[in-house]
Amino acid sequence: MKINQVAEVAGYLWQKGWAERNGGNITVNVTELVDAGMRALPALSEPKAIGAVLPRLQGCWFYCKGTQKRMRDLARDPMGNGSLIRITDDCAHYEIVADAPVAPTSELPSHLSVHDWLLAQGSPCRASLHTHPIELVALTHARKWMEKDAATRMLWSMIPETKAFCSRGLGMVPYLLPSSVALAEATIRTLAEGYDVVMWEKHGVFAVDTDIMSAFDQVDVLNKAAQIYIAARNMGFEPEGMSDAQMRELSDAFGLPK
Ligand SMILES: [Zn+2]
Repeated sequence: MKINQVAEVAGYLWQKGWAERNGGNITVNVTELVDAGMRALPALSEPKAIGAVLPRLQGCWFYCKGTQKRMRDLARDPMGNGSLIRITDDCAHYEIVADAPVAPTSELPSHLSVHDWLLAQGSPCRASLHTHPIELVALTHARKWMEKDAATRMLWSMIPETKAFCSRGLGMVPYLLPSSVALAEATIRTLAEGYDVVMWEKHGVFAVDTDIMSAFDQVDVLNKAAQIYIAARNMGFEPEGMSDAQMRELSDAFGLPK
């Protein structure tokens, strides 16, 4: 079930070279999977402050990668390198419930703020992924690709599947300090514009989707398009890209947003 999927994705992140050291983060809202037996489990920790009051998360359960834990370790032992937490009734604290008292990621306040926002929107997205995909991060070192929707248009035009599977494109967030409240707020603003993959300049991506595999797939598809662009540039030419007419035809045929 979902925890195995988290482990599988963590393995892919490591294999792709997107998760050096303890880089990257995964949080999944697993509330819908919690049964009476799990609800009866005692807390393994004292309630700890989230650092924010998140009213829609009352009683919600999350799987969270552990602080300072490595994705490559999580891939073989998800419950030794992450934990299940539940949000207390005051919506400001959490308790670790299983399997061991592994402290969640230091980015918990920003990840949980996004989950709170998703629930407020009535979004079906339950998983959030932060990772460092090499080619996408490289693109953000050029001003021209940081302009609104410039990278999206180029990536869509590299191979038809990119628009088919990432039809909402890539939202760009100018450089902000990692783990900062400002970065969390900018991420939520960009999600609110209708993107579900957000690019943090000179850092990495933050993606949300219904489950962690789908979030990974979106990032994988976008990064593949970036690799095709770079491969063409390495062969010494600017790739032509699909034409606007070809993109419109694709959108019509597959009912994609314009
Ligand atoms: Zn990062």
